[in-house]
Amino acid sequence: MNRRDFLATTTTASLALALSGCNQSNRQAIDYSKHPQKKDNVIKAVNINKNKKTVIKLATSWPAHYPIIGTNVEKFALRVNQISGGSLDIKLYPKNTLVPALAVFDACSSGQIDAFHSGPYYWKGKNSAFSLYSGIPFGLTAEEINSWMLYGGGMELWREDYAKYNLHPFVGGNTNIQMGGWYREPIKSLADMQGLKMRIPGLGGEVFAKMGVNPILLPAGEIYTSLERGVIDATEWVGPALDIMMGFYKVAPYYYSGWHEPGSILELTFNKHSFDKLALEHQSIIEVASSELNSNMTHEFHHENIKALQKLNELNVTLLQFPKDVTKEAKRALSEVIKEQSSKSDDFARVYASVEKHLNLSKEWSDTSLRYFLNER
Ligand code: CA
Repeated sequence: MNRRDFLATTTTASLALALSGCNQSNRQAIDYSKHPQKKDNVIKAVNINKNKKTVIKLATSWPAHYPIIGTNVEKFALRVNQISGGSLDIKLYPKNTLVPALAVFDACSSGQIDAFHSGPYYWKGKNSAFSLYSGIPFGLTAEEINSWMLYGGGMELWREDYAKYNLHPFVGGNTNIQMGGWYREPIKSLADMQGLKMRIPGLGGEVFAKMGVNPILLPAGEIYTSLERGVIDATEWVGPALDIMMGFYKVAPYYYSGWHEPGSILELTFNKHSFDKLALEHQSIIEVASSELNSNMTHEFHHENIKALQKLNELNVTLLQFPKDVTKEAKRALSEVIKEQSSKSDDFARVYASVEKHLNLSKEWSDTSLRYFLNER
């Protein structure tokens, strides 16, 4: 038998195998209306009036065309327009064009805008539990936090909490695993962390503070100069793809792998009244396009990080891992932060309990599968 005959025979055999058991009674289209999903968003009527354009004002916390994050929101708006046949038009307002970057939550809650794209950790001052919707140090990876959100009860908790502010969130992307930051001098032991002035926000910042670091908040535009002049000793940002554009490697060449943001979620949040008023088809279009936004952004971060890491290697950046005593102390500090926040806020305790349950189960599976594989690869 020559190769072509062999292929033809095996293809026919495979097809025969795949079709075996196929009789008249199961030659039917799948009745997907019986799919075991929640039925709360089943379309009962065609509501789109193609002659009438619905406009959504969406403000972001990012500059116009901000790589990966901002550009994926732009792709989302384009997709919504395409899929809706132009009947749903999302007008994008980059940071500070309609409302200040960190005023988007309040502006959307009050109805000044219909939607925003930002990060849940920015609103921890309103409710400390909100930072947990972004992720936690030593917590869930991008894949794990998506599974918590979609199937582990995360989304229900998030929507319940945001409904109190007249808001309706969707997962709006993920930065994927972040790096531990840029340091002017190498960290040789925990002692080197004492008094270190570092730009690091969120729960990560609280953990670093308990380890003796002095966390400093700075606007994005001031980080490089502060690092260059020694006003700060270190900064974290995101990962190679975005960090390389900030130029931190020129003034703080020691670049550490991280554990403080293992898979931070970004949000695409709507004013609940505005969203509820939309035609059901438009609501479904947003749901589908936001899911695409989430996966596209996660995968683009991975892809761009691969390329940027190669460039950083060419620039002779020193890639390092934190010493063991630093990581051990960070875990101790994290448990202290969680304990304190849980005692101060019932919401934090309730959401953290859900995260912790998912994390414990997930660790067992991820260690059994992915950790084994990555160690062996
Ligand atoms: Ca970060």
